[in-house]
Amino acid sequence: MRQITQTKVLILLGPPGAGKGSQAALLKENLHLAHISTGDLLRAAIQKKSALGQKAKTFMDQGQLVPDELMFAMLFERISEPDCANGFILDGFPRTVAQAEELERRLDHHEVKVLSLTLEDAHIVERLTKRLICSGCQTPYHLLFAKPREEGKCDRCGEPLFQRSDDTEAVVKERLKVYHEKTAPLIAFYQKQGTLESINANQDKETVLSEIRDFL
Ligand code: AMP
Repeated sequence: MRQITQTKVLILLGPPGAGKGSQAALLKENLHLAHISTGDLLRAAIQKKSALGQKAKTFMDQGQLVPDELMFAMLFERISEPDCANGFILDGFPRTVAQAEELERRLDHHEVKVLSLTLEDAHIVERLTKRLICSGCQTPYHLLFAKPREEGKCDRCGEPLFQRSDDTEAVVKERLKVYHEKTAPLIAFYQKQGTLESINANQDKETVLSEIRDFL
């Protein structure tokens, strides 16, 4: 892989279900970067029943974005941890142009690359409503296309699988609407800066990964 040592921040853009989390999990070992999924951080906060988690849950259950002040506080607390010193992969952040602008101000000494995983809406509902996640290591599975070896159990760590409460059809549709209104404009934002590469996410995981590696 070329230029890996210079890639300090890799932003993964894309609609829900495009495979940002799966690709980040595969890439983080190769790139020696931390994987920061803002959705996972929020779900962990909800599980801990922290004040932030309680506030975030109302928005998440409706498929809406969590307010920026909560997001930035949580994100930068995570970025200050030692495993992020070498750089990190952002999965699920930024999600609006305002978040991207603020992030740019705060990360002005980092080298940032942006990857957009593209996937048509028609595939998204199918991917998400049949998705299961490992409660231990967050590995995603799919009831039709990526079944675990043993039903309900993670192949990697053996912990139980669960369906995210926002992966129901009604909430997925709302998340998609929010994506098109608020997050998709980021593609043009980063295109203008010349830092963006797009990859078709409607291919098997290995092909997507190899195209990402070529870009990096
Ligand atoms: P994800 O796991 O990335 O699909 O995120 C799940 C939910 O967490 C989203 O639908 C939002 O409610 C919330 N969330 C995650 N990242 C962000 C963000 N950058 N800004 C606002 N809300 C977010």
